Amino acid sequence: MGNLRHYIKGIRNGEVYFDEKFKFGFILHEVSLLHLLFAILFLCMGNKILGAYNVVVFIGYFSLDYLIKADKYKIALAIASTEVIAHSILTTLLVGLQTGFSLYCFSMIPCVFYLVLTWNVFKKKERASLIYSAIFTVVIGFCFVIAFFVKPLTPAPLPWQVVFSVLNIVMSIAAMAEFLILLDWDIMHKSEKMASLNTELDEKANIDPLTKLYNRRFMNQKLEEKLAELSREGNLFGIIMGDIDNFKHVNDTYGHDLGDVVLVEVGKALKKSTRDDDYVCRWGGEEFLILINGNKDITKGVAERMRSAVMEISVPAGNDNITITMTFGVTESITGFSIDKLVSIADENLYKGKQNGKNRVVSNDD
Ligand code: GH3
Ligand code: MG
Ligand code: MG
Repeated sequence: MGNLRHYIKGIRNGEVYFDEKFKFGFILHEVSLLHLLFAILFLCMGNKILGAYNVVVFIGYFSLDYLIKADKYKIALAIASTEVIAHSILTTLLVGLQTGFSLYCFSMIPCVFYLVLTWNVFKKKERASLIYSAIFTVVIGFCFVIAFFVKPLTPAPLPWQVVFSVLNIVMSIAAMAEFLILLDWDIMHKSEKMASLNTELDEKANIDPLTKLYNRRFMNQKLEEKLAELSREGNLFGIIMGDIDNFKHVNDTYGHDLGDVVLVEVGKALKKSTRDDDYVCRWGGEEFLILINGNKDITKGVAERMRSAVMEISVPAGNDNITITMTFGVTESITGFSIDKLVSIADENLYKGKQNGKNRVVSNDD
């Protein structure tokens, strides 16, 4: 029961989806069972012609399964539509319009729109569904014309007329509601898919594939936002530019692949040293740029934490363990300075750190 509830919730959220075969097969089986009900009722009423017709149609709908299995959707839809038309005309001629069998031509309009628009079978979807709708509309009109000019050939007794008209009104409206619900599920599923594709695209556009940190593109956007916030609200922020020391040596000694593992570990160590509202990005190669929500002292503190965290990295390489250090250049946001200017100040401080022996944090005060 819990599973069923979960399944239905999945459908309603657009996570579970029915494929073409299942959808069409399900609808055909529903129609088939409805014809079985008609067959039983007509035979009970004593109308052998309509009883026999509905038995044949009941079996016929099941054999349409073969067409669906063979992906012959267009033919199956054409046959089913012809049957609904034939049944409407035949019942109008034999038991009269008031029994309501022609109402299913109305139900066929949302059905055809639903199937044709959600299938990838028809090239000109709108045209196909409009042609089908026009045909069903003409048939409804034709049934009315028959009713005006032709008396039912085998009229149903009054109680049966009531039974049929109530049954057909309820079932044809239920069918229309069903197609609209199915269409809604389809739309929900498609929006769900679009949303997850958008997330995927966003990730591809903003995330560095190796370290899973933000990339330079994203960071440039974030820095612009932060700069605007600074001039608007005076919110200070800090920039840290970090560069792995002697990384070329790591690559040359242990190979590029292990160099990549080191980059991933550095990414984790930097992320671990920051808070959720800070941003860590791989600026390029073995350089990382970190945006800190805070003033100069906080930024320097984070950079020191990062330096220590990086020193704890140990990547196994055969009998050896790769350890590294990193140098950081720090600056605080300055009103009126461009992003390029701020980044170049952090870069200059980083350069000073490299000149003065690496594995250190350098700020404007040093
Ligand atoms: P310094 O301490 O002055 O920064 O020296 P360094 O050796 O780290 O600097 P250098 O700029 O000479 O070398 C950087 C190296 O980083 C060279 C390049 O091959 C390596 N590198 C850049 N991107 C990647 C990458 O994606 N994967 C790997 N494995 N190495 C990379
Ligand atoms: Mg380096
Ligand atoms: Mg470098």
